[in-house]
Amino acid sequence: MTVTALAFMGGTFDPIHNGHLRTALEIQQWLGIDRVALMPSKVPVHRAQPERSPQQRLDMLQRAVEDEPALYADAREILSSKPSYTVLTLEALRREFGAELPICMIMGMDAYLSLPTWDRWQELLQLAHIVVVKRPGWVYKPGDLISRVTRNHEVSDKQRLLSSAAGHVIFHELTPLGISATQIRNLIGDGHSPRYLIPDGVWDYIQQQQLYGCSEIKGKR
Ligand code: ATP
Repeated sequence: MTVTALAFMGGTFDPIHNGHLRTALEIQQWLGIDRVALMPSKVPVHRAQPERSPQQRLDMLQRAVEDEPALYADAREILSSKPSYTVLTLEALRREFGAELPICMIMGMDAYLSLPTWDRWQELLQLAHIVVVKRPGWVYKPGDLISRVTRNHEVSDKQRLLSSAAGHVIFHELTPLGISATQIRNLIGDGHSPRYLIPDGVWDYIQQQQLYGCSEIKGKR
């Protein structure tokens, strides 16, 4: 397969849910590229450590994408001996794919707003484009530090992303799914079913492994 552009969405995926999956699939179709990678972080550096192991989060992700050829799991951060700093991942991708390939990093608005707290964040746009997906409840404040970055890098034509290697930010509005992993963990923790918010294969795995305190849920599928 000739790769014309690489697009990936990083995250904790604790657990992966339909908000992640629908976002990745819509971006794949919108950009007109073959596949989008979902890349779980081994040790998230910007947030509390999840109780689920990297392998468990990867297992759930692999189950979620197994029937969808347009999505795949990229385990490079989990397999790496280094912490999951995005800048290191992008440098590794550049070493692997060269300087010319368009690389698009997909992230929700919440993640984009937190960008100035990321390690070596000013270098990220030298290494990749950023596709920002609006997320219910997260609004962009024009006065923020991130607004200056946006002003200097924002484009509205996706072809600009596909015809250059890095350096652009584009906002994309898609089917808003106000689902979060926090909500899934809370539902399960409260003894409720998360069915239809996550793929059935992921829910089966959660029950088998008794994750998120799900052993007490009644009326499992
Ligand atoms: P948590 O509730 O634990 O913070 P989360 O649901 O936000 O988790 P993450 O693994 O932290 O999931 O997110 C990975 C990426 O997916 C981030 O860029 C985040 O903005 C994005 N994302 C998560 N949920 C959605 C959603 N419903 N719609 C669009 N993007 C999403």
